[in-house]
Amino acid sequence: MIDTSELVRKLKTTGATRIALQFPEGLKRDAPGVASLLRDAGFFVVVSGDPCYGACDLATELLGMVDLVVHFGHSPLDDTPCIIYDPYRMDIDTEVLGIVIPHLSSTDIGLITTVQHTHMIPAITKYLASRGITCHSVHGGTRAPNPGQVLGCSYGAARDCQKDEILFIGTGRFHPLGVRLATGARVVALDPYCRTVEIVSTDRFLRRRFALIEVAKTAKNFGIILTLKSGQKRQQLAERLASMSKNAFVVALHEVSPDELLNLGFSCYVNTACPRLAYDDQERFSVPLISPQEFEIVCGSRTFEDYQIDEIT
Ligand code: SF4
Repeated sequence: MIDTSELVRKLKTTGATRIALQFPEGLKRDAPGVASLLRDAGFFVVVSGDPCYGACDLATELLGMVDLVVHFGHSPLDDTPCIIYDPYRMDIDTEVLGIVIPHLSSTDIGLITTVQHTHMIPAITKYLASRGITCHSVHGGTRAPNPGQVLGCSYGAARDCQKDEILFIGTGRFHPLGVRLATGARVVALDPYCRTVEIVSTDRFLRRRFALIEVAKTAKNFGIILTLKSGQKRQQLAERLASMSKNAFVVALHEVSPDELLNLGFSCYVNTACPRLAYDDQERFSVPLISPQEFEIVCGSRTFEDYQIDEIT
């Protein structure tokens, strides 16, 4: 729920009069209501209509026409000036934790979640402590500023808690899978809304990635994708990967879409933009889209036994 009165109060303290609003895909429908309330409060308002999936993709180009950008839904990845963040918070009924307790094998675990639920970590920790389970949630680096917070491109909070068992609370399968790959820990995933519990396995994921790498090994040439988005641009990595094969070339672009890649005509792409593109969206692309570490396997500088999930550091 977006708290517009708190937002108006915060904006008034900045002295800004011209505001841009940037919503992630899941919150875009709130745009007309929030824009209207801010205009009634005396602000000139512009809504960013471009796709946005994270704080890695700030609408900084609008700063030419406004004083501040309000970015909804995510916490800051860096200290880009003139951006105000309004993370989205979703409460969890702690009683749902009762269904996960029988699936835990340890009484000393790591506890992680995504940004929407990090405010619930103290309450979850307290509930589990009352059932004899000690939870550890630590800071995982600058991309995820809240203790216990992971992103699809950053699992530092899971790694740094140094526990053999980790409880992930949240929705979707990608984050817990990433935690399992990044840590090797036993990962128990609780979806607090569907009320389901899963012991995370990476077998199916790794089988599919192995098959994709085998196809990539037959590629005639490789486009190394370098996005120009602020929090996803990994130029050094892209250049290093391009230097690993005489048939690899850096391809710079803003949006990575199946049509754009098809038109460019490379027979395999290596993704240095948001890591989830290669893992989640492979079916949308007609040629292999592999991660930097998978390209290293293709080039022979890494073995599949040393498979690593891609993270942005
Ligand atoms: S790079 Fe991808 S996973 Fe990381 S914050 Fe951006 S959208 Fe999320």
